[in-house]
Amino acid sequence: MAVYVGLDIGGTKIMVAAADRYGNILRRARTDTSARLETDLKNINSLIAEVAEKEAILGMGAAIGGPLDWETGIVSPLHQPDWRSVPLKALMESKWNCPFHVDVDTNVAALGEYRWGGISARHFLYLTLSTGMGGGYLIDGKIYRGQGGAHPEVGHQSIHFRCSNPQAIQCECGAPNCLEALISGNGIRRIYGKPAEALAPAEWEEVAYNLGQGLRNMATLYAPDIIRIGGGVAVGGGEKFIAAARKVMEDHLKLVPPPQVGLSGLGYDTALRGAIAMALLDPND
Ligand SMILES: [Zn+2]
Repeated sequence: MAVYVGLDIGGTKIMVAAADRYGNILRRARTDTSARLETDLKNINSLIAEVAEKEAILGMGAAIGGPLDWETGIVSPLHQPDWRSVPLKALMESKWNCPFHVDVDTNVAALGEYRWGGISARHFLYLTLSTGMGGGYLIDGKIYRGQGGAHPEVGHQSIHFRCSNPQAIQCECGAPNCLEALISGNGIRRIYGKPAEALAPAEWEEVAYNLGQGLRNMATLYAPDIIRIGGGVAVGGGEKFIAAARKVMEDHLKLVPPPQVGLSGLGYDTALRGAIAMALLDPND
């Protein structure tokens, strides 16, 4: 049986899965990301061979950190410094002889949640809250792109925040008061001196307040029907964290109807499932 392959190429691990034409995962494999591009590419190709089990591959999709050019498939993931201007699409299409689609991991996760998370809303915003923070906005199931294909960076909006250690707020992008610097895994470590899972209740409350302010801005600007939030920090904080953030958003949202806000249902597989959704795309889509 011919297969479709999805890849989630992250800064710490690489996950690969083969799926049937309905997107059901048949086999999966993973490895740690190395510091070397050459090693990563070699590992990716051997994981693909492993999950495909010599079956024909009809399409591939991949999620990777930005920045990247989704049309040419040239990628330079910020947190993988050895990967610079890598022509991933060209490399993979010539090696595997099938269509290859690649996009920013948060866009791909949005597609995964939309396709397999029971979403039918026309305006859908997906947020990833893990080491960093980002989002993907879908309109009628299609990725919204900005000027020249630019990916909107919702993590780098400035917000009205609460923080018990404000001098430690520092965004990797260089701008002041970014949402990502306040609520991402890296931001939390910098501000509170510990990982998200070790936060005290009062610290979670601050993080939830700040997420709520970000949600308020995003709801005001995008007016989405549904917002789903995934990634390690969100999953770690759980329903209680999301509910506290939702309340802050609702308390401050005056002119736009509040979207439904909830936790992603796909756990750590959201981007991998989205990569499979891209692999299944019709080349003319
Ligand atoms: Zn920033």
